[in-house]
Amino acid sequence: MSALAVKHGATNLGQGFPDFGWPEEVLAKAAEAVTQGSNQYPPSRGLPVLRQAIASFYGRHYGEEIAPEHVVVTVGATEALAAMINVIVQPGDEVIIFTPAFDAYIPMIRRAGGVPVEVRLAAPGFDLDGGAIAAAITPRTRAILLNNPHNPAGRLYTSEEMAPLAALAEQHDLTVIADEVYEQMLLNEGDHFTPFASLPGMAARTFKCGSAGKLFSLTGWKVGWVVAPRGAEDSIAKAHQFLTFATAPALQAAVAHGLDHDLGLADQRRGFARARDRMLNGLADAGYVAIHPAATYFCAVDLAASGMGLDDHAFARMAVEQAGVAVVPFRPFYLDNPDTHLVRLCFAKPDSIIDAGLEGMRRAKLL
Ligand code: PMP
Repeated sequence: MSALAVKHGATNLGQGFPDFGWPEEVLAKAAEAVTQGSNQYPPSRGLPVLRQAIASFYGRHYGEEIAPEHVVVTVGATEALAAMINVIVQPGDEVIIFTPAFDAYIPMIRRAGGVPVEVRLAAPGFDLDGGAIAAAITPRTRAILLNNPHNPAGRLYTSEEMAPLAALAEQHDLTVIADEVYEQMLLNEGDHFTPFASLPGMAARTFKCGSAGKLFSLTGWKVGWVVAPRGAEDSIAKAHQFLTFATAPALQAAVAHGLDHDLGLADQRRGFARARDRMLNGLADAGYVAIHPAATYFCAVDLAASGMGLDDHAFARMAVEQAGVAVVPFRPFYLDNPDTHLVRLCFAKPDSIIDAGLEGMRRAKLL
């Protein structure tokens, strides 16, 4: 969709990268580290200062007790996912994913020889359904992959909502892969994020990934990490060694500084919440029914509920080609690319871009 946006000169509300919100002090630290620090291979598992900062961050924010030895720094959460899946999934293993799902999961599970098993989250609530999860578990189930907060649903799952999943993981001795890259991107006052590993008994069976790109709105940096359960850190480190070996040391040093000082996190959250409200108000004015996100910087428009006859693909194509706005159809977020009536919009944009995108959405409604 980004390529089509460029081709047609459309406003890009498609791809999920933020156009504002990054902390300048983290950039300054990176510049200083490039000119004054080492630019040679860092330790494969990550700079000690960053591994410590990650462990301390989770201790401070969520009361978790994580030893820096359990942290492996990766090239973004994308590599963290690849390392976790390569370690956990053996050929023939089934991995339960909740769809719509981030598009990297299915190919990565398949490449490891695994079988992705889909549990669909029904719009507009995208609730976790304990019965549906239980029904998807077979003797071949090895792991459950939960993305919380959830892209593209914009959903934040509470500890109560995740409890049935934790109980099933315990009962069937399953590993949980917790993709928590949007952990700090909460949009409603008073909401709290619960790391899956902090649920009773779950630290021992949960592999978590995080992303500095998401935390600090620096998606191009590709600094991520795995927090591995006790005893699994060496396996993750080996997978990482032969995927990429290491990630840029200057960026790691800057991320450590940002984490130690919570740089920009509160400002970013307020900025994204304002942007979300601007987008949702504009969509409502234009006659669209949107699903209100509690987290992430994405919202979904329900085309059917908005009285549009087009499916997600037809709408996205028409919008970028004729109405000057790029949005993302939901279908690639499912196993078999079904027709859907949902499209995703990214609102982590300056007001002028949101307004231009909304103008395009208004035009699309009339076409
Ligand atoms: N998981 C989810 C749910 C994501 O949305 C993304 C990025 N869009 C990633 C992982 C990858 O994060 P990174 O950019 O740090 O590789």
